[in-house]
Amino acid sequence: MIVADRKNVQEIRDMIKDHDRVLLVGCGTCVTVCLAGGEREVGILGSALRMALKLIGRGNVVVDECTIERQCEDAFIDILATRVSEYDAVVSFGCGAGVQALAERFGKMPVYPGLNTQFIGILESQGVWTEKCAGCGNCRLGEFAGICPITRCAKHMFNGPCGGSRDGKCEVNPDLECGWQLIYDRACALGILERLGAIAEPHDWSTGLDGGPRKVVREDQRINT
Ligand code: SF4
Ligand code: SF4
Repeated sequence: MIVADRKNVQEIRDMIKDHDRVLLVGCGTCVTVCLAGGEREVGILGSALRMALKLIGRGNVVVDECTIERQCEDAFIDILATRVSEYDAVVSFGCGAGVQALAERFGKMPVYPGLNTQFIGILESQGVWTEKCAGCGNCRLGEFAGICPITRCAKHMFNGPCGGSRDGKCEVNPDLECGWQLIYDRACALGILERLGAIAEPHDWSTGLDGGPRKVVREDQRINT
């Protein structure tokens, strides 16, 4: 899932304080699961925001809330179309894709981000999410026993550890598990340790973000118009 966390109330207040009618829009998908931008969080933030505006003498700003199932798909944004025209600004509690989808759809409406989008990750334990994939566009998990050296090794090393790993922890940050220790342990458990002896090819970064925004086209799914 996409993992995000909330901006603080003051930051959101300062973005919207000069507007008169503001709609907070939650998203019912990833950001609901990571407890950042779903219906419940938008409700709590809405109350906090009204209070914060009152404290700076802007208690007359109307702040309303709603949540749609998904902000990153235009079909789900349809439901907002008539409602948005009643406001002069929107705060999106979707991930960065959701914010931009709303901005594209409502070309004349200021759209502000309510969240800080962080990474693609998983729920590790109650209240803790960790990064697992950097979306490199050329997945090589099959070579590394199912553990990503790009995301899990702090130096993104492809051919073994850096030499600084101690007791399974990363030298860059002792709170982090060493990604290469994890790869080694899992390769041992799977009985495929000898595979790690082969020199791993340099990564093909041409599929990464550096060439600009990427696109996936599924010709078999397209509808010719
Ligand atoms: S190799 Fe690339 S696509 Fe696969 S998990 Fe790592 S960053 Fe993600
Ligand atoms: S200690 Fe491990 S995770 Fe940290 S940079 Fe070195 S090899 Fe990567």
